[in-house]
Parts: sequence; structure tokens; C-alpha cells
Amino acid sequence: MAVRLDDLPLRDDLRGLTPYGAPQAALPVALNVNENTHPVPEEVADDILDGIAHALRDVNRYPDREFTALREGFADYLGHGLSRDQIWVANGSNEVLQHLLQAFAGPGRTAFGFAPTYSMYPLLTRATGASYVAGVRESDYTLDADEAARQIEEADPDVVFLCAPNNPTGTPLRLDVIEAIYAASRGMVIVDEAYQEFAPRDERSALTLLPGRERLVVSRTMSKAFAFAGARVGYLAADPAVIDALRLVRLPYHLSALTQAAATAALRHAPAMLSMVDEIVAQRDRISATLSALGYQPHESWTNFVLFGGVDDPAATWQGLYDRGVLIRDVGIAHSLRVTAGTESESTAFLDALASLGR
Ligand code: PMP
Repeated sequence: MAVRLDDLPLRDDLRGLTPYGAPQAALPVALNVNENTHPVPEEVADDILDGIAHALRDVNRYPDREFTALREGFADYLGHGLSRDQIWVANGSNEVLQHLLQAFAGPGRTAFGFAPTYSMYPLLTRATGASYVAGVRESDYTLDADEAARQIEEADPDVVFLCAPNNPTGTPLRLDVIEAIYAASRGMVIVDEAYQEFAPRDERSALTLLPGRERLVVSRTMSKAFAFAGARVGYLAADPAVIDALRLVRLPYHLSALTQAAATAALRHAPAMLSMVDEIVAQRDRISATLSALGYQPHESWTNFVLFGGVDDPAATWQGLYDRGVLIRDVGIAHSLRVTAGTESESTAFLDALASLGR
């Protein structure tokens, strides 16, 4: 008989949990995990390859444990007067968040997020032995500053996750709400800006709130706008003392020399790597407009995906699209589905397949 999880001396607090499980199916049109579906531009790929080849010559040695060049690169990219001692990098922003939880959550502590939000927050939290509290959003998925602050005061968490703009709803988060939540909290406040590059250009990032707020952290990723999901690179900006705290929990040499070389080279070409953002935003807005015309209810999105309501039977629609070679995401919100904005032809394939299903 096959051994089951329950047969193992597993931690009690992990029993009954289910792992992150977005389906990975090899369909022609994959619009389910909010990747950038445009490949890395050819000329940048060559430079990244050169960087990796160079790093490979020294791969018998451990990498720079402080990933100095890469932190400098991110400080330059983010601007806002940031310096490298305020930057941390890990294998995807998931690991960045894990490091934060290892340092600031853990057994007996609590992390908090406003539901629905990124599904990994509770999983990462519980894996550190902390408990997770889900707060409530307004009916349109926005947050009201006073109400959000009230919920934070009541829950009194050690870590607050603010996904801005929010996954899976696409909802923007105003800076005054972040300020109110920070003022109402005593714990760390993590603003997860994984999708910030898809927000309107003139909107300010939470990076502008960092000065004078030592409990505030802004996390970012190269997985979305940068078209670098497979390389696994996430980063954050915070007070240098926060960076010191993260050094306590990371594994020595957690960022491989090849990852550092690839990311440093990609960052040197940030404008080229980000050149598809406008095109993706145009496809996102076209998807929203067409969904409305088809009678669905797309939610406002500042990201590279659209959550749409008005789906009678999400499981059936999801399957109908799957059978037509289009993979999107059922995020478990009633009568809703989420689709990533792809290339023009991928977005067309999704919209045509959906229209062909009828309502
Ligand atoms: N935060 C949010 C809000 C996300 O949607 C994702 C990816 N789906 C991540 C973090 C993690 O991304 P990565 O680990 O690839 O940086």
C-alpha cells in the first residue's frame, strides 16, 4: 500500500493543508498564472547568456553571498534614492515573503491579509508555524482606509500583507489606505507590488512611503513585467535594519551565481525587458472591453490579468476553454474566472473561445 501523508510523522500544523496547485498543462494558450507571455527579447537573451557563461567559469566557488552587484542594480532600477543596503533579493518574491515571515512571523505569531488575495500568503504563513487571519474587503474588492485600519487594530497582527494591485482581483490600492494601515499596526507591513509595472505610469508606488517607516516593506518580482518567471528572482526595498533581519534566516548563498548573473544582465536591459508592458496593458483593456460586450463583469485591473464575474458555472466555462486549448484560472471566487493578458493572438484565442461557448 502506498504511504500516505498521514502515515508520516508530519508536523501537526501541516496536516490537512493543500499545496499551491495552479495546473501546469501544456495547452497552446496558457493564460493562467499571470506570466508575461512574450519571450525575452533576442538581443537581451544573448547578453544574459554571456553573463551566465562568465559566471559558469567560477561556479566551483560559492557565489557572492551578499549579491552586491544585483542589489545595486535593483536600487538603480527602483530609484527613489534607494541604496543597495535597502535591497534584498531571493528566488522569486515567494522566497522574499518567506524570509520576511521567517524573521517576523513564526510560532505564536499572526499574519493578516484582506481576502480574496494572493493564495500563497496563508500557505507561506502556516509553513513558518504562524497563524493567518483573513480580513474583509468592500464588495468591489477595494479597501476603505478607516475600515481597514479598524480590522488591523482588532486583529493586531505581526505581519500585514497588502497586495497592491491585488491578485486575483486586479484592484488598485491607494497610498492613503497603506498609510492608515501602517499607522494602525505595530507589526511589519508588506506591500506586495508584484504587478506594479502594469499600473498607470503616473501612479506613485508605495516606495515613496518608505522614508521614516521602518516597519514598511515593498516587495517586487521579475516574474511578471520583466518576463523572467523561470529565472526565479524577487526583491524588496526596506530599511537597512530589515535587511539585517533577513540575513538571520536566509540560507547561506541562497542566490546562485547563475541567477545573480542572469538577473544582473537582464536588469542592465530593463527598458527592453519591459518593452512589452504597454502592449500587455492594451490587451488587458481590450479583454475587459470585450468581456463587457459579451455580458460578463470584468473588475477594474491595474495588473496583467482580469477577474471577471457573471460566469454562471465557472468550472464548466473553465473546462470548455480547456477543451479549446485555452488555460485560464478558476480562483475559487463565486461566478468568476481570472485570465492573464497574453499576446494579441493569445488574447484573441481566449476571447473567441469564450464567445464560442455562449452564455
Ligand atoms: N506576489 C503576487 C501577488 C503574485 O501574484 C505572485 C505570483 N503569482 C508572487 C508574489 C510570486 O511571484 P514570484 O515568486 O514568481 O516572484
